[in-house]
Amino acid sequence: MNIQLDTSVQYVPRVGPAMAQRLEKLGIRSVRDLVFYPPFRYNDFSTISTISRIIPKTTVTIYATVTSIKNIFTKNGKKIQEAIVRDHTGILTVIWFNQLYLPKIIHKDDRISFSGSIGFFGNKLVMESPEYEIMENENYQSLHTGRLVPVYSETAGVSSKWLRGRIAHLLSQKETFLHELLPEHIIRHHSLMGISEALGGIHFPKNKDEADKSRHRLAFDELFFLQLTSNIQKKRWEYENLALPFNIDNDDIQTFIKHLPFTLTHDQLQAIHHICSDLKRPYPMNRLLEGDVGSGKTVVAAFLLYLSQKNGYTSVLMAPTQILAEQHFLTIQHILKPFSIPVTLVLGGSKSKSHTPQKNTRTHIRDTKSNTPATVFIGTHALIQEKLELHNVGAVIIDEQQRFGVDQRSIIRTKGAGNNTPHFFTMTATPIPRTLALTAYGNLDLSILSDMPHGRIPIKTWVVPQEKRTKAYEWIRMELQKNNCRVFLVCPFIEESESMSTIKAAKKEFEYLKTQVFPDISIGLLHGKMKANEKTSTLDAFREGKTKILVTTPVVEVGIDIKEASIMLIEGAERFGLSQLHQLRGRVGRGTFESYCLLFTTNTDPHVLERLKILEKVHNGPELAEYDLALRGEGDILGFRQHGLPPLALASLKDKKLVVDTQEAVHTILDTDPTLQNFPLLREHVDKGIIAKGIQD
Ligand code: ADP
Ligand code: MG
Repeated sequence: MNIQLDTSVQYVPRVGPAMAQRLEKLGIRSVRDLVFYPPFRYNDFSTISTISRIIPKTTVTIYATVTSIKNIFTKNGKKIQEAIVRDHTGILTVIWFNQLYLPKIIHKDDRISFSGSIGFFGNKLVMESPEYEIMENENYQSLHTGRLVPVYSETAGVSSKWLRGRIAHLLSQKETFLHELLPEHIIRHHSLMGISEALGGIHFPKNKDEADKSRHRLAFDELFFLQLTSNIQKKRWEYENLALPFNIDNDDIQTFIKHLPFTLTHDQLQAIHHICSDLKRPYPMNRLLEGDVGSGKTVVAAFLLYLSQKNGYTSVLMAPTQILAEQHFLTIQHILKPFSIPVTLVLGGSKSKSHTPQKNTRTHIRDTKSNTPATVFIGTHALIQEKLELHNVGAVIIDEQQRFGVDQRSIIRTKGAGNNTPHFFTMTATPIPRTLALTAYGNLDLSILSDMPHGRIPIKTWVVPQEKRTKAYEWIRMELQKNNCRVFLVCPFIEESESMSTIKAAKKEFEYLKTQVFPDISIGLLHGKMKANEKTSTLDAFREGKTKILVTTPVVEVGIDIKEASIMLIEGAERFGLSQLHQLRGRVGRGTFESYCLLFTTNTDPHVLERLKILEKVHNGPELAEYDLALRGEGDILGFRQHGLPPLALASLKDKKLVVDTQEAVHTILDTDPTLQNFPLLREHVDKGIIAKGIQD
């Protein structure tokens, strides 16, 4: 069979369907997945020795001939395999334990390469449990011994040894399926290794330096292709979609701003400015607005809805849940009231009736069809799922980076006026650092609201080390006596699991607080495994003040606004990312009380405490996400996976130089050849990537 990178891995010789199923657990489906499966470390078996020169407590490789091999069953039940081997300098005993099959595999007179550590067995010098491979002929190239040997993440039935064999087999014929995709000048400019050499070198490097250079080349490819793909998506969006002509009247902008009940923040004004310049371009807007909960994204959205209406277009705002849609409806209706812009709420199913007179909705739709005043529609997925006939859509706003299906997005794309595509505007409260946004969402333009509206008091945050815990409890007791406030206590997990034995489980914590710390104060417990009605009544009791302290797990969505909740206590704070902690503390500080967040940790590592202390000073999500990225890498960024990013096997977004280098490489290509005319292989690769990811523009 002709093996290509996209060939299913089961067709690789000696793999087959059963093995393919196991490989799937490692994320390996194709030949590509297998040959690019990176080792996470190497065993250094590169020191070759003769038998006469071996030294105890070292790891060496010897080439020797087997004199004898046998199983030994000791009186106390041990099963030992013992081989006597020799080279031209001497004789050595090699032992293994519990590998009864070995005498069937290794035979007298076999030439074998052994790699392992030298130790004593009794008072005899032996090699213990070595890796071995039979050297079949003079030119035998070793894979498992006598070199830097790659070690891979394994799964049941798939060992590193087996992986090495299959990967080596594929590498021996790599020239038939592996092609260099990077343009020559980029390889030269960044002093990169060729792809063929790098792929060989990451698995079977001659030395550490070759391993590092190979890894660097493959990491370069990862970030390069990620950015190339998103940049090409952006170019395609620009070339393939016609913009709706918007007329932006400065007076209109001023009128809108004048009628607001508050002064816009600097960042809100900037976002509005971004929107206006987007609308002047010859292609539709595709912008992401990022800002913490409460940073004031809604008014920016309202501005776009307002502009759209001024220009005679319909516009829609889609929210992920009914509650959010209703909330937006009320807020935006209020903001747009001075301009007499009609706003319609569209909800799905039977629930919508109580909130939206069905008749009313229909009326508006008919209106838009017959070119009477344009309308603002706010709703859930029902906006596109129901038989709501939207026409002449000028702007589409999506709240919360909802991963709307491709179909849904393309349905709404066809609703533009004439052949035009509506302007797209997405809002998210997920803190994504700018580097990551630019790398992975290069297809979107980005606006960030990092300053909070004036008058908002930041939540006072303290890191509480173990020795101050008692004092902190006393302080909480005083606050509870002084004010009619509530306390959230967030614990990392419901049940204490083995690996997380230092973390207090919520249940245990609840029992402890109830009996030992606050026996006189009523405490509630909320976790994800409770039934919906139990959750509701627990939250109600907390809201009404029947319970004063609520112990919760971090996964539980705590009811939207509990104004009296002014203290947040987080246990095992070091387990969380900074932006995650920031989102957790955002659950307090919604009322008039001064609000506090106490970060509890039993960890005494100064680095850990220092990291947590950043929260005492920094109060904005995107900035904290930057810290997370710099300090712990992208794996720690909230929602990294949910945002549909491919996992990076080798590259790290922490590596600023690599990010910048790959960005530059992408630009040098696209600036002169935006459609990759001159790089057909590269173009094909990118197209495949786009299709596989299922990303729509
Ligand atoms: P989010 O970004 O979470 O959607 P909202 O748009 O709901 O935030 O705004 C949160 C609150 O802040 C709302 O009550 C809103 O009226 C208010 N707000 C928004 N912008 C400002 C501002 N510039 N000054 C004062 N209050 C503002
Ligand atoms: Mg909002």
